[in-house]
Order: sequence, then C-alpha cells, then structure tokens
Amino acid sequence: MTLFDRIDTPGCGCDTSDLAATLLPVDTALNRGLALVDPLTATEDLPLHQANGRVLARPVKARADLPRFDNSGMDGYALRLTDLNGTKTLPVCGTSAASDAPQPLPAGTAMRIFTGAPVPAGADTVVMQEWTTRTGNMVTFEKRPQTGSNIRRQGEDQRANATVLTAGQRLNARHLAICAGAGHGSVSVVCKPKIALLMTGDELIAPGAEATGGAIWDVNTPLLTSVLSDVADISFVYQVPDSFDAMIDAIKSAAQDVDLVITSGGVSVGDRDHVKPALNLLGAETAVSGVAIKPGKPITLSRLGRVPIISLPGNPLSAYVTWQVFGNPMLNKLCGLTEAVPPRRLVRAQTELRHKPGRCEYRPARFCGMDHSGLEVVECPSATHSGHLGPMAQADGLVLIPGDIDKTATGDLLEFMPF
Ligand code: AMP
Ligand code: MG
Repeated sequence: MTLFDRIDTPGCGCDTSDLAATLLPVDTALNRGLALVDPLTATEDLPLHQANGRVLARPVKARADLPRFDNSGMDGYALRLTDLNGTKTLPVCGTSAASDAPQPLPAGTAMRIFTGAPVPAGADTVVMQEWTTRTGNMVTFEKRPQTGSNIRRQGEDQRANATVLTAGQRLNARHLAICAGAGHGSVSVVCKPKIALLMTGDELIAPGAEATGGAIWDVNTPLLTSVLSDVADISFVYQVPDSFDAMIDAIKSAAQDVDLVITSGGVSVGDRDHVKPALNLLGAETAVSGVAIKPGKPITLSRLGRVPIISLPGNPLSAYVTWQVFGNPMLNKLCGLTEAVPPRRLVRAQTELRHKPGRCEYRPARFCGMDHSGLEVVECPSATHSGHLGPMAQADGLVLIPGDIDKTATGDLLEFMPF
C-alpha cells in the first residue's frame, strides 16, 4: 500500500485530514456505541420449531448420554468376537431392530441386528451384512472384523449433563438439532427487542407511489425493516415531519415504548436536520456525533434514559454502511449475543483503489473469483457515492480502505465485512 501520498481530487472538503481529526475514529465510536447498550434480560421458553434465529439465553446441557445406549452402526450381526475363534459359522439367535430391547446374547451365537438397534448385552462387535453369508438359521462370516467394530458407544457423542451449547449465540438449524438430540423440546431465548423506526425527510414518498416534483421514494424504510425483521419486533415506523417540535415529540414518545430507537436522515448540520438539536434538548447522552468514516460521517449514537438511539444518515448507502459498522453490533449486544461484532476476513483487491486520505472508507465490493491460494478476489466501484444504490445492490460486502492512505495496489489484502 502507498502511504499518505495525497492526491488532489475534487471533493466536498470534508475529506481533509484536518476535519477528519475532529471526527471520532471508527473503533472508538464503535466501542462508545456498544457502551450505550445493556443486553436485554427478559427471556421466554420456545419450542424448538419456533426458536430458529433467536438468541439462546441459558446454556443447554445433555439430559442423557448421547447416544443413550450402545447401538449398531450397520445392518449385520452382533456377536462376541471370541466365538469366531476356531469357526466362521454361528447359529443366529433372535433379532434386534431399532426400538427393540433385545435379550442378552447367548454364548456361541450371533444376533441379527439393524442400524440404530440396541446391541444385546454380551455382544462386543457388529459385523456388517456385506461380510456375511446367511444359510437358513446359520450365518458365515467371510472376514474377521476388529473387536468393537460398528458399535456406536453410549455417550461417545456427548456425556449426560455436558454443555452442548453455550448461551449468547443465535440459534440455527444445527444448534436446534443438538438441542433435540440432547433431549430438549424447548429452549430459553432472549425476548426480541422492540424497535421504533423514525424516518425523516419531507421529500420521502412510499415506494410505488406516483412521484412528482422533488419527491423521492423512501429506500431506508424497506432497507431497515428487512434487516430487522428476523431479529426484532418493529413496534412502529413513523414518518417524522422535518420540524424541530415534531422530532422532539417523536423521539420522546418512541423512547418510552421500545428498547431501541433508530432514526434515519436529518442528522447532519443543515437547517432541516433536527435530530441532533432534538436529542440535545431532550438531554440525551450523546456518545458519538460524527465519525471519520466514508460514507456516513454524521452517524450519531446516543441514549435517552436507558434506550439507545442510533441516528443513521439519510443517504441509503451511508445508512446501510453505518448500520453494518455500528448499528448491527449494537443490536447484537442488545439481543444478548456474546460476540456482538461479527468477524471480518481478508480478501484480495482485483484492481488499485484510489481514495482521498482523511476518513476510512467502506466501499461496496463484489466477489469476482479466487486467487491461486483460494483467497476471494473482489471488485469495487472506482469511488463510493453515498446516494448510489447500484453498487450496494450488487455487493457481497464492504472492503475497508484505511483513512491514512491515498490508494491500495492491485492484489492488496483488504479487510472485508461480509453482508
Ligand atoms: P439527510 O440525511 O436527511 O440530509 O438526507 C441525505 C440524502 O438522503 C438526501 O438526498 C435525502 O433525500 C436522502 N434520503 C434521506 N432519507 C432517505 C430515505 N429514507 N430514502 C432515500 N433517500 C433518503
Ligand atoms: Mg433530510
């Protein structure tokens, strides 16, 4: 990477390192934002089929050994291996199928057994059917197995009372599978947070409505409702008029009813931007007011009483990037996730990326292949435009271009935040 070789490209002036110096670094802002959030403590018990995607509130322990009893891993014959000393043929005595409770195995005999069936007491080995020849009531073993073959031992997967899942993770199909296997029909999960969305912008109209004059279709409502829909209860979405009084009323009443308030737009310094003045008048504790990030510089993180307020900029890419970088980890913490900040990984840049030094930049990036070592290669637009939706729609995630450099080289390794 080239270090701070400043390029002279036109811009709004907000990229200069002087201004960036007055803005909070991303990591500092993220830590301050996280500190505004207390994890929810209310929990509920849900049957497994309703718990997918929810955050586990209590560890899950195995109710019994898993498997609960020695059982056959194959269709075949159960025997005592020493009974094959001096002979290859044994009489067949009985059958053990799944759900049976077989009698003990008489000495000098084999028992027909099927996959998953309990191994009879006395047997120490199961020989797979493919290694045997059955003639009437006699079975001949063509090969001699090792002792203990094809038996799934009681407790070999999990021991009774072992912790099979720790609290603080979002449950998926694999987690729910082990809950069921460990004998549980329900789990204790953290209650979903209640969220209010306050959308600002008198220019906004509903998507699909007829647009005239300076009206624009509201992008951020569907954007935010969809990122929240699986993990939160959206108590209400309110279109707040661009007025100071309306903003004060909206924030005050929302914060009384919900666990988190998200505002969109109106957070910059224009005459129609009422979010920050309203927060100030209400006496909100503001931990972050402007971050050295592109796009999304005006992002503001505060708290009114115990309710965190995430104030996203109105430009859709700015809103989405700042949601990914700050909002999502804060919501994760609120939901009780132990790892609130999702892991990032490295990818390789397909081309050189130019960037104005000052703020660090999160640029939409799309997978376009793999390098010889199997690392993903990404392509990015030549610049980030906070109002452009096209690159965002096609992207698989965001690459981070550090704030203090003016370009990255073709093939550079970049930090990548997958969507
Ligand atoms: P603001 O953050 O309110 O200054 O808005 C910045 C830009 O984003 C303006 O061009 C707004 O029209 C636009 N914008 C604000 N909110 C939305 C929204 N919900 N959907 C689409 N564009 C928006
Ligand atoms: Mg606005």
